[in-house]
Amino acid sequence: ESDQGLNSNISFFNQSMEYKLLERRELEKQLKSALAKDQFFLVYQPQVCPGSGVIIGFEALLRWRRSQSEIEAPARFIQLAENLDLIQEIGAEVIKQACRAQCAFTNVLGRNVQMSVNLSAKQLKEPSLYHTIKDNILNVGTPPSCFTFEITETTFIESQEQASQTLERLRSFGVRISIDDFGTGYSSLHQLKRLPVDELKIDRSFIEGVLTDQVDTGIAKTIIALANHLQLKVIAEGIETNSQHHFVTGYPDVICQGFFYHRPMEMDQAVATLKRQKQQMSPRQQAQQRL
Ligand code: C2E
Ligand code: MG
Ligand code: MG
Ligand code: MG
Repeated sequence: ESDQGLNSNISFFNQSMEYKLLERRELEKQLKSALAKDQFFLVYQPQVCPGSGVIIGFEALLRWRRSQSEIEAPARFIQLAENLDLIQEIGAEVIKQACRAQCAFTNVLGRNVQMSVNLSAKQLKEPSLYHTIKDNILNVGTPPSCFTFEITETTFIESQEQASQTLERLRSFGVRISIDDFGTGYSSLHQLKRLPVDELKIDRSFIEGVLTDQVDTGIAKTIIALANHLQLKVIAEGIETNSQHHFVTGYPDVICQGFFYHRPMEMDQAVATLKRQKQQMSPRQQAQQRL
């Protein structure tokens, strides 16, 4: 009797494993053909000046239109794309679309808009990344300094040599480098000393408890102070509540990103948002923004 029970457990276990495997194979198969089918697109989340609400730039975030009714977020497929060696090609598509969007947004607003793009470790290992970025930016004719490439601390650990070489070249070309999810990886301070960096993004996990948890408050304040000392730009990610917003307005140089201001949006909605902002701004504010 106990044997039987054990057997049925095993067979149940196997079935669910089999299901997972099938699902994964299906995901793999579809992901492999997604590029050819043009199923990747970007959504854009505004980065704002918290005092005025003025949009300074956007972070481009990847989405996969897997079918008419399914849109997958990066957590569902980026890792797999890396394992299947598809990330370079997908990444090139991301860079191309982000450059075009930067141009479109700049035209709407009549001044240069900043555009941030995420890079994965695997992309940085590939020397061709430099050319992909350079060619796309030269193609749209925007100053390279309008583009920021976000990497995580883990990226540096995974591909130290090649990564820092590529980053140096990119930076000499004129683009900006940001450390995403700052404080959640390894040896942040050591990396800061070694690598060409222009910006830190305070991870959402620290912003979450910025009013309730003394440790989070301390960490957030310390990252802001560190950025100031090193003359780096600092972005607070994941601002969701009015009180978190209130906290960051105490630091006039901090740029903010989060659902409290705007959710990531598709291209046409981003254009509409920028048009609205332009109409609302006084001529004096507009002149100041152009400076
Ligand atoms: P990330 O670069 O740290 O991007 C921020 C993530 O936080 C985005 O999730 C965004 O939608 C989400 N977010 C923004 N504001 C809030 C908020 O107020 N509350 C909460 N709960 N979440 C907020 P998303 O789009 O799902 O992207 C997840 C991660 O996937 C990104 O984290 C980034 O590491 C990666 N990723 C996104 N696009 C790309 C890409 O084009 N290439 C690569 N290699 N990675 C990408
Ligand atoms: Mg990012
Ligand atoms: Mg982040
Ligand atoms: Mg993240």
